[in-house]
Amino acid sequence: MVSPQFRHLLLKLGLPEERLLVLEGKGGIVEDEFEGVRYVRFRDSAGGLRRGTVVFENGEAVIGFPHIKRIVQLENGIKRVFKSRPFYVEEKVDGYNVRVVKVGEKVLALTRGGFVCPFTTERIGDFVDFEFFKDYPDLVLAGEVAGPESPYIVEGPPYVKEDIGFFLFDIQEKGTGKSLPVEERYKLAEEYGIPQVESFGLFDYSRLDELYDLIGRLSREKREGIVMKSPDMMKMAKYATPYANINDLKIGSHVFRDLPHGYFMGRIERLAFYLAEKHLKGEEFEEYAKALGKALLRPFVESIHEVAHGGEVEETFTVRVKGIGTAHRMVTHFERLGVEIHIEDIEDLKNGYWRITFKRVYPEATRQIRELWNGLAFVD
Ligand code: ATP
Repeated sequence: MVSPQFRHLLLKLGLPEERLLVLEGKGGIVEDEFEGVRYVRFRDSAGGLRRGTVVFENGEAVIGFPHIKRIVQLENGIKRVFKSRPFYVEEKVDGYNVRVVKVGEKVLALTRGGFVCPFTTERIGDFVDFEFFKDYPDLVLAGEVAGPESPYIVEGPPYVKEDIGFFLFDIQEKGTGKSLPVEERYKLAEEYGIPQVESFGLFDYSRLDELYDLIGRLSREKREGIVMKSPDMMKMAKYATPYANINDLKIGSHVFRDLPHGYFMGRIERLAFYLAEKHLKGEEFEEYAKALGKALLRPFVESIHEVAHGGEVEETFTVRVKGIGTAHRMVTHFERLGVEIHIEDIEDLKNGYWRITFKRVYPEATRQIRELWNGLAFVD
């Protein structure tokens, strides 16, 4: 149930009463609190209020981050999405999506699902100059947090050697979710020293060959891909490198039983389209085929061995926090996400930060593998 105060706010934002009742009934909107700031988050979309939308008690709304359409055939995808019109090409950074927003006196970092993330909220000031919000209190900074010490993602981009970084890729208006045009974003980021995703500049269909080269280079450099954006941000498309597709399979295979089939299918499909579009044959084809097989099998087999020897399917993460309280708040945050984590180690880095090591365990995947290993007979 949502309190009368929030009901009133949501109706004022244009959410029809019947829709509100249905959403409440199925838990599509949830009231939450972070250090005294109350908000509702949308677990489902409702009209213009996308999943991940957050409405604060002062009536301000941060709209959920939109889906970006994916293309798997670069040439035809570009033709279809952008026709002959120009588009900016930016790196797709592999991390987790955050929307940074000032509410009252606090700057908060929201996850894609609309939670205030205690870790990112504590750390965001290390990367973003809050002067920005003094001048533009009605804007939201959307970016990727990425690096080897991130609480949600096992690996980071190769150029973040330690800890995490923030990479701006969108600036949106509160209330509407409307994006600033690309050049305006680049200018503001520059002005306030906000780190951004790398931009490879303005392209159009006639420079397809250069894009193929770029994808090849990013793949060799172990980077995730590109996002193409019309200058007014009205059209967008994402494309992943073959490296990222195979690497995601490798990471996923470790927790094979915990992921939906679509996770694997989608990535195999993207790789197949890449090989077909590039007409790869012979040795090069064999290499991809071998890499795919290994990525799918090796971590999975290792997990089976682990469980067969009495262990668990698990992943280890480290993060750097300024206060130990933040680590405990993360444990609670993960519990609410239905994720089981255990803090393994806390180390004082003696530079104002603590390094926290925690394990994420996968009890269901472990149980299933144990059963199968122990000879369970089942109907498939
Ligand atoms: P969806 O967009 O369909 O929800 P998803 O959540 O699975 O997909 P991805 O497939 O990884 O996400 O792609 C979209 C995400 O990529 C964005 O939500 C954003 O967090 C991230 N991203 C990284 N770099 C960029 C960039 N330069 N521009 C836009 N988004 C970027």
